[in-house]
Amino acid sequence: MPYSALSHLDCSKTGKRYEADEVQGVSDAGVPLLARYDLEQVAATVSPAEIASRPATLWRYHEVLPVRDESNIVSLGEGMTPLLPLPSYGAEIGVPGLLMKDEGLIPTGTFKARGAAVGVSRAKELGVTGVAMPTNGNAGAAWAIYAARAKMKSLIAMPVDAPSITRAECVVAGAELYLVDGLIGDAGKLINAAVAGRSGYQEVSTLKEPYRLEGKKTMGYEIIEQLGWQGPDVILYPAGGGVGHIGIYKALLEMRELGWLKGDLPRLVAVQAEGCAPIVKAYEQGATESVAFPDAHTVAFGITVPKALGDFLVLEAVRATEGTAIAVSDEALLEEQRRLAEHEGTFICPEGAACMAAAKQLRESGWLREGDRTVVLNTGAGIKYPETVHVDVPTLAIDSRIPAASAN
Ligand SMILES: *Cc1c(COP(=O)(O)O)cnc(C)c1O
Repeated sequence: MPYSALSHLDCSKTGKRYEADEVQGVSDAGVPLLARYDLEQVAATVSPAEIASRPATLWRYHEVLPVRDESNIVSLGEGMTPLLPLPSYGAEIGVPGLLMKDEGLIPTGTFKARGAAVGVSRAKELGVTGVAMPTNGNAGAAWAIYAARAKMKSLIAMPVDAPSITRAECVVAGAELYLVDGLIGDAGKLINAAVAGRSGYQEVSTLKEPYRLEGKKTMGYEIIEQLGWQGPDVILYPAGGGVGHIGIYKALLEMRELGWLKGDLPRLVAVQAEGCAPIVKAYEQGATESVAFPDAHTVAFGITVPKALGDFLVLEAVRATEGTAIAVSDEALLEEQRRLAEHEGTFICPEGAACMAAAKQLRESGWLREGDRTVVLNTGAGIKYPETVHVDVPTLAIDSRIPAASAN
């Protein structure tokens, strides 16, 4: 059995086949390419028990990842993040079995590390010497960091409003960084034009190369493995570009074909912020694609994507699994971010908090049942977004006193 069972790439719309061992962007139809594997061969040679005996990184699924030669792997130890029970919070919102896949505990503090680890490794294997991307911050930070480890160059453009820590991460990793007075789409146009004039660089924008998705799909493999190779009833994911959502769905389909996952697929829920909810709108209107969302704005910066290239794939995953799409307000998600930290001792990112707010609302509406085994993705660490917490504490002069009893 070779290290990777990668066989080819498929156009996600027409099914047209593409060669996997050369650098590829989108298909001729202008849509994402999906990596395909010889799953029959994998099923015949690898068992879930063997996977379980491997080191605790996402590379334990290497047969269904695209890197052919192990020596090309660029790793910072990413993967196998905890699946944490949230008993107090879960009981409070009426879903006592609530679990949180905590991606805050991964290199760079967000799940973007998964896409970067696999994407950079495969780019290196194919001879790419520089990666270029527009970003809302976290992806750029992760790709800059992994590119540095791979001895590759990185060219990043992000909105000036993106979380400032992500700028620092790009700079410290030696990236060529530009701040753009606009949204991620505006940054994308600049990157696209710049790459056309440079040699050795690959444009690695969201879903414009096939392997970031492969890294992100490992969240799906891990959730199923961590539940003893069983699916939960529901998975909630904060959808921006939708890569994680599409990746988890892809992983579920692969595992079903491998015979590693039996029974019904979990219902997949795409969560967005009310200030940028193109996919929710399309879902509600019964559309197969979204329309660019006007004046996009939310504190959950990672999901500020007015029009995603893979929107049709997110909608397909939601409908095929009998899931749903829901938008929550910034006010609601910030409230849950705080409540979760107070009640469970975990400081999550606003995008993850959006999923908590969504779980609460879906339980209130009855869509989510009390006994549903529910997994929420917390896609990053709250400490990457210190500005989302309003801090109002008293300053003491040196001769004043701290009260004898706590006020709360
Ligand atoms: C990028 C990002 C998202 C959205 O991810 P997609 O896969 O593009 O939908 C969610 N949360 C955080 C913290 C992010 O950085």
